[in-house]
Amino acid sequence: MIVFNTLTKKKEEFIPLNPPFVTMYMCGPTVYDYFHIGNARSFIMSDIIRRYLEYKNYQVKFIMNLTDIEDKIIKKANEQNTTAKEVSEFFSNAFFEDLKKLRVKKANEYPKATAHVDDMIQLIKELEDKGIAYNIDGDVYYDIKKFSDYGKLSGKKLDELEIGARVEVSEQKRNPLDFALWKKAKEGEPSWDSPWGKGRPGWHIECSAMSSKHLGDTIDIHAGGNDLIFPHHENEIAQSEGAKEKQFVRYWIHFGFLNIQNEKMSKSLGNFFTARDVLKYYSADAIRFFFCQTHYRGPLNFSNDLLDAAEKGVEKIKNFIQRLNSEIEVNKIQDKIFDFNISNYKSEFENSMDDDFNTPKAIAVIFELIKDTNKLIDNNQINNTSLVQVRDFIKTTLDDVLGIISFEELFYKEKPLEDDLIKLIIELRDELKKEKNYQLADKIRNSLNELGIILQDSKTGTTFKKKL
Ligand code: AMP
Ligand code: ZN
Repeated sequence: MIVFNTLTKKKEEFIPLNPPFVTMYMCGPTVYDYFHIGNARSFIMSDIIRRYLEYKNYQVKFIMNLTDIEDKIIKKANEQNTTAKEVSEFFSNAFFEDLKKLRVKKANEYPKATAHVDDMIQLIKELEDKGIAYNIDGDVYYDIKKFSDYGKLSGKKLDELEIGARVEVSEQKRNPLDFALWKKAKEGEPSWDSPWGKGRPGWHIECSAMSSKHLGDTIDIHAGGNDLIFPHHENEIAQSEGAKEKQFVRYWIHFGFLNIQNEKMSKSLGNFFTARDVLKYYSADAIRFFFCQTHYRGPLNFSNDLLDAAEKGVEKIKNFIQRLNSEIEVNKIQDKIFDFNISNYKSEFENSMDDDFNTPKAIAVIFELIKDTNKLIDNNQINNTSLVQVRDFIKTTLDDVLGIISFEELFYKEKPLEDDLIKLIIELRDELKKEKNYQLADKIRNSLNELGIILQDSKTGTTFKKKL
């Protein structure tokens, strides 16, 4: 498997530190608002990478942090006359709800910044002991001149950066590029005790501290949107490698922006739609399908036309699954000559995903299989075993790995009353069978079948299944 590593700017063979374990950290949201569909692109693509690693039998420990203390949260709390805690709890819950609707698998943990302040203080102390961090009157800064590798991730040169940088009047840093590790408490802001007095941690130190706490000092994959390469991830490297003197991350993965009219979708520009709103008009299936049609590193323009097209693409897939299901029910072909060997499609799917998670190519392979299977069904040239294999493959790729279709939602959507009524009919039919009234029992079975409800009799009793 080959992965593009932002650090080396090359595609590299993926070799985790301790196979079959893979440690993966994804920079999560600052919980001061609903997240937008641009953020969703990064969350969904990281989910697909994690799911594919699991498909390859890696045991992935996936961590996503929640930034629950930050200027924007404090600002919102002041505007709404409430506390930072209330704001962050409200939007953390909204975040989990929306991720669930988008079918993003749960992380192993969602560490919160406010629950890790001690770990951050510890890490800042390590940096201070090494002379890499300095305290000016309760504000602690990272001295980037002390870390010779500074700029290695973003490819930025220190002298070029210095030209563009400026110091805020209120700051007394040694170098304009030095960044805050600990911010002295301000009136009316939440604060914690520390060796430097009351204050709160800077944003970058969060991820360094939580990453090593939950995944160890060297992790396999660290992911996030392109906007985080500089300064956030550059600073994370400086902090973690400065303190631990070990490689921090083996593979850096970054997601391209979701744009609107070629401009990055962002809260600050105001050109965004929340994922919550988009989900009112489009299915999670279509949203995920839309994202998968572009490689995760490339830019992607958001448009209603593209989402409408994605909705149609998903419809095609669902119709195919419906056709497969009904065909599997009726198809009696057993002949070996009508075996349809799908191993080529499987290896093509894997080759595409192994090549830096090339989802557009992987999807093209699946559509090829759909086209070819449809043709074979039209001509009665596929046997039942092969149809089941095709369905299994579709389930594994489109549901388990890409999360575009949920078979569970498709087949087992709860309709409690309807299900209870079917069970009641089955019980009454059992009575009829006991009375040897097979004619009426068969009539019930056939009528239900016409309604798309298939009864399956076995020694242990009768179960039912719904056709799509
Ligand atoms: P934030 O809450 O802004 O820190 O963002 C959460 C995640 O979404 C981070 O990984 C960002 O890099 C990512 N992100 C932000 N804007 C976009 C965008 N327009 N397209 C793709 N990813 C984004
Ligand atoms: Zn981060």
